[in-house]
Amino acid sequence: MEINGKTRTCGLIGNPVEHTLSPMIHNTLAGILGQNMVYVPFLVEHGQVAEAVTGAAALHLLGLNVTVPYKSEVIASLQEIDDLAKNIGAVNTLVQTKGGYKGYNTDMEGLYRAMTGEGIRIEGEQIILLGAGGAARAVAYLCAVKGAKRVYMLNRTWDKAKAVALEVNRAVGRDVIMPMLLTEYGKIPEGKYLAIQGTSVGLAPDEEGVVIADEAFYDKIHTGFDLIYSPWETRFMKMTKAHGGRAYNGLKMLLYQGIIAYELWNDVCVSEMEAQKVYEKLKEHFNSGD
Ligand code: NAP
Repeated sequence: MEINGKTRTCGLIGNPVEHTLSPMIHNTLAGILGQNMVYVPFLVEHGQVAEAVTGAAALHLLGLNVTVPYKSEVIASLQEIDDLAKNIGAVNTLVQTKGGYKGYNTDMEGLYRAMTGEGIRIEGEQIILLGAGGAARAVAYLCAVKGAKRVYMLNRTWDKAKAVALEVNRAVGRDVIMPMLLTEYGKIPEGKYLAIQGTSVGLAPDEEGVVIADEAFYDKIHTGFDLIYSPWETRFMKMTKAHGGRAYNGLKMLLYQGIIAYELWNDVCVSEMEAQKVYEKLKEHFNSGD
């Protein structure tokens, strides 16, 4: 694509940003759809999020993604916030408005599109959610809103799980999230569960890491969804499969959160065929070992 006077710019703010796959998602989409847009990563130093957002508005940047560690901090610099993002307490996408930005959370909807695309149901399901950090909090909200029967939220730090459960249960008006200590997994009632792995344990280079190493735990899982996508197959996924379950990584969640952001910025609808082309490109990247 030729960059010229009419090129519109989007980007990512975070720290660090070097390993992001978002430029590949957005620049590939712009190429496929023939749109004059570029997407670049911007490293923002700690304490400078507000300046970054003000500067972006002054430069008329069309939109920004926000990654770790600024998804909550950025909220104070927004002109408007979408209700869903407000309830989750985290924003990963900024869309240009007159004189500033409106914040959205596309992580949650991205995960939902990824799951439904694989035929994974949330409604009426019994779910085990591992973790209570930023991502798991959005997952807890998604499960509650989409009608999960019960979610056992297991975390190393019980207070964090309790705080998320209180907040989400209050927001949806029913006691659906049940906070537990990670070590209490044996107390989860017998049955078959959808398990969502939302901790950072097992993320490359710690490829042998797994948040629960007890084989017996995996007998309870019919489907395991790991939010991690590097490595391609985590130990959590391997253990789930070894016990007869289906397992998925988080690459499609990443893909769809990006696609939803792209749709918001460009006012277009990306087809499944176009999404699949971007997915193939991301997969190639993993296969090439870059
Ligand atoms: P975060 O806010 O830092 O939360 C980290 C979580 O991992 C917390 O629940 C933490 O427990 C737990 N944890 C960390 N080290 C642990 C250990 N040694 N033992 C047990 N638990 C441990 O991170 P996040 O933003 O939620 O991200 C979590 C994961 O999701 C990351 O791997 C990230 O790459 C992935 N993610 C993927 C996507 C995607 O698009 N696929 C999007 C967002 C995030 P404590 O509360 O006890 O510290």
